[in-house]
Amino acid sequence: MTDVLRCQGLSRSFGALKAVNDVSLTVIPGARHALIGPNGAGKSTLFKLITGLLRSDGGTVSLTGQDITGLSEVRRCRLGISQTLQHASLFPTMTVAENVVLAVQRHDGRISLLPRRQKAVHDRAEDLLTQVGLKGRGNVTVSALSHGERKQLEVALALACNPKLLLLDEPAAGMSAAERGRLAELVNELPADVAVLFVEHDLDLVFELADTVTVLNLGQVLLSGDPDQVRASSEVRKAYLGA
Ligand code: ADP
Ligand code: MG
Repeated sequence: MTDVLRCQGLSRSFGALKAVNDVSLTVIPGARHALIGPNGAGKSTLFKLITGLLRSDGGTVSLTGQDITGLSEVRRCRLGISQTLQHASLFPTMTVAENVVLAVQRHDGRISLLPRRQKAVHDRAEDLLTQVGLKGRGNVTVSALSHGERKQLEVALALACNPKLLLLDEPAAGMSAAERGRLAELVNELPADVAVLFVEHDLDLVFELADTVTVLNLGQVLLSGDPDQVRASSEVRKAYLGA
């Protein structure tokens, strides 16, 4: 089966700093692929090279076999790369359901006033809320949500465009233990045809969720493998776990 994402020899420097240095990475269909590494390893920069927010200095990115290296962020998004948006992208005075309806309409590229179409949009929004564990919370104003619920809503918005690849950059940051549990459930229950690449510092969560782990250090891939391989690696422990 074609890889969902294939990065080959990706590089990006900031002045003399090689933030991402010749990185090759493959995400297979259905993957729950974790990207870990110390602060400053280049994880967020690599995400930006994948979404197209940043241009690479070298290397290629392809999505399901199509070379997208030269494409803008918007084009890549339309082709199926989605990431959780920042808080600022939520409309805080609107309800949860209204935010999702807007995201669905944005993906449709039009606002239809046909009752049949409106019902379809609302049904899709309901499905998305159920998928992320916010069923029954549609009428709540965004500003009244807990931190964890906002994150759940961000995932719903990211899913609104039917992504092939969902990127989550530190989704559990600032979450309570209970919220982390709900996030783990949510990721586990995402449709199998959405591949997930996520950055996470909480290694318990990483080893609970991931089927593949790639370790980045100083802009380079230190190791990529199944969680047990990564856990057993003395190199990884030295670079990342400090032991
Ligand atoms: P991580 O997400 O793994 O913590 P980042 O990708 O954010 O790491 O950063 C990698 C390195 O690149 C860091 O040393 C960081 O300071 C640097 N960096 C990231 N973005 C920029 C930028 N826009 N300008 C200059 N340096 C940057
Ligand atoms: Mg980061």
